Amino acid sequence: MPTMDNQRGIAAGGVASSLLDDMKRRILILGGTTESRQLAASLAARDDLSLMLSLAGRTTSPLVQPVPTRSGGFGGAEGLAAYLRDNRVDVLIDATHPYAGTISANAMQAASQTGTPLLSLRRPPWQAQPGDRWTQVADAEVAAYALGPEPQCVFLAVGRQEVAAFACQPQHRYVVRTVDPVDPPLAVPHAKYILARGPFSEAEDRELLSSHGIDVVVAKNSGGDATYGKIAAARSLGIRVLLLQRPFEQPATSVSTVAEAIAWLDHAVTSGIDRGV
Ligand code: NAP
Repeated sequence: MPTMDNQRGIAAGGVASSLLDDMKRRILILGGTTESRQLAASLAARDDLSLMLSLAGRTTSPLVQPVPTRSGGFGGAEGLAAYLRDNRVDVLIDATHPYAGTISANAMQAASQTGTPLLSLRRPPWQAQPGDRWTQVADAEVAAYALGPEPQCVFLAVGRQEVAAFACQPQHRYVVRTVDPVDPPLAVPHAKYILARGPFSEAEDRELLSSHGIDVVVAKNSGGDATYGKIAAARSLGIRVLLLQRPFEQPATSVSTVAEAIAWLDHAVTSGIDRGV
């Protein structure tokens, strides 16, 4: 049982720590990527920052994150703006995947509505190397038609949500690699499923493409190292790659590495940040 003095001490300590908490800069990181985890891990020990990492909540077994997280949509740009206001977020960092176009557009709109400084942490796309046999296509629907009428063995590495677009081309054999099961499965006679989470090496992916007799790879130009294995493997085996175009990039202040994001944040914090309007 604490004494009165202890209780006062605890109460005073509580007030002091809540004052300290109030002085911390509140950072909301929109995540779901390797970079968002790395950024959160690099900032986790900072006692001048209060961090929250937001995940869409789609994967059934999300990785453990190094900072407090919230999960699930905000309810569009308006919902995100309300979250920024209600939680007095000082800085919003959009570290979502380059193909997560809706949340990035919402981040742009919500940041501008609330006057919250926004940084976009975006991996640069891969650039074609000599030997690459790439065709850029607008989206998964166009990729499905670009496979052509002749039966092919197709490696689909486009993410669960884009797979359904290939049901309209049932003449092909598909090998589909996703983190979570494709549900419902693709309505075609020949589809194999591989459940795996990257990173994937070039050697691993060369073995996969060869052993399945893959003729064509369909992928997103995600950038980064974790999923580049299939691109390098396709190059070395002379296999065609259909690359889905990235969605429209928001005109936000943008960096491409975690180190640059930390430098930007440090500058923003030391030069003073206005809380949202
Ligand atoms: P999206 O199409 O841009 O977003 C759809 C909706 O999901 C958003 O409007 C938002 O719902 C919610 N959402 C997305 N990211 C969120 C986040 N970090 N925190 C809270 N809500 C979020 O996104 P997506 O392409 O489905 O990707 C979903 C998540 O998976 C993203 O976090 C992304 O970083 C990650 N991811 C995507 C890909 C990909 O290829 N697209 C690949 C790897 C990882 P409300 O409108 O209700 O707020």
